[in-house]
Amino acid sequence: MSRPLNPWFHNTVKMQRKVESDGSTPELSRKTFTELLVTKMGFTAAEIWCIMSDAPKGTYLLTFMSESICRRYWQMCWSRRDEKPFSDFHLECQLVLEVKRMTVHVYNPHVNIQDLTTFLRRHCTVTREPSRNLDSDGIWDGKWTVMVKLKEDPTAPDGIHHPPSSFSLGRDSGYLYYPGQPKLCNKCSKPGHTAKDCTVQVCKNCKREGHTARACKEEAPCNLCGAVGHRFKDCPQRAKSYSQLAKPPGREAQEEAAAASLPVPAPRKTKETGRRKGPRQE
Ligand SMILES: [Zn+2]
Ligand SMILES: [Zn+2]
Ligand SMILES: [Zn+2]
Repeated sequence: MSRPLNPWFHNTVKMQRKVESDGSTPELSRKTFTELLVTKMGFTAAEIWCIMSDAPKGTYLLTFMSESICRRYWQMCWSRRDEKPFSDFHLECQLVLEVKRMTVHVYNPHVNIQDLTTFLRRHCTVTREPSRNLDSDGIWDGKWTVMVKLKEDPTAPDGIHHPPSSFSLGRDSGYLYYPGQPKLCNKCSKPGHTAKDCTVQVCKNCKREGHTARACKEEAPCNLCGAVGHRFKDCPQRAKSYSQLAKPPGREAQEEAAAASLPVPAPRKTKETGRRKGPRQE
């Protein structure tokens, strides 16, 4: 096995020739590789920054002139990964591996940041916790910066799971963006049109297609953890606020707390009197 592609290897697709059943790796010359996998696929030399190859090992690194060209090539080869000649290779792209700077804005500035992180972790790998964006006066602008790695999704057109650009957390709504985010419809999450022109019927309750919220028989999933059976306010993954922690959950707990607090005043008094007496050394 060759070394994995480093995430900082920008705009690069790595193609590693698969080993045949007899253990051999048929050699493909650099020239043939370029002809078969670049020129024939409609990409020109002007779109390529560099092709590094190690033909005996079957390793080819294609670096493109821009991220958009790289994305176009990656989508093309990923969607045809079961067809020849792509099926002869293990495909890897830095667009999937790289750490991205994501900006998240929830309209409620008091949103619990742990809940926001829990939500983000459902969709991507958080490599650095959210931090507040401060302006030149040191005042927060309401947005968060999070470093993330996107997850792989074999069913997506580019093999990448893209977090929803707009989302809800309980009653709070927000949006997020990052470099290379595809332009998807806010309503149906499909490419090629905006929510304004969307003709897909998406249920506002369960987010499934083909019926209205009024006709919906499904239970809406929790918008924090995605599970069905509870709402955001009851989500077990929700971070506990100070008021929730202070509020005893039931009568039993209240009684327990009352019983536990009974002996407290007595030792405090002695401690105080003791302290007052302490410094006086007569
Ligand atoms: Zn749509
Ligand atoms: Zn529904
Ligand atoms: Zn939940």
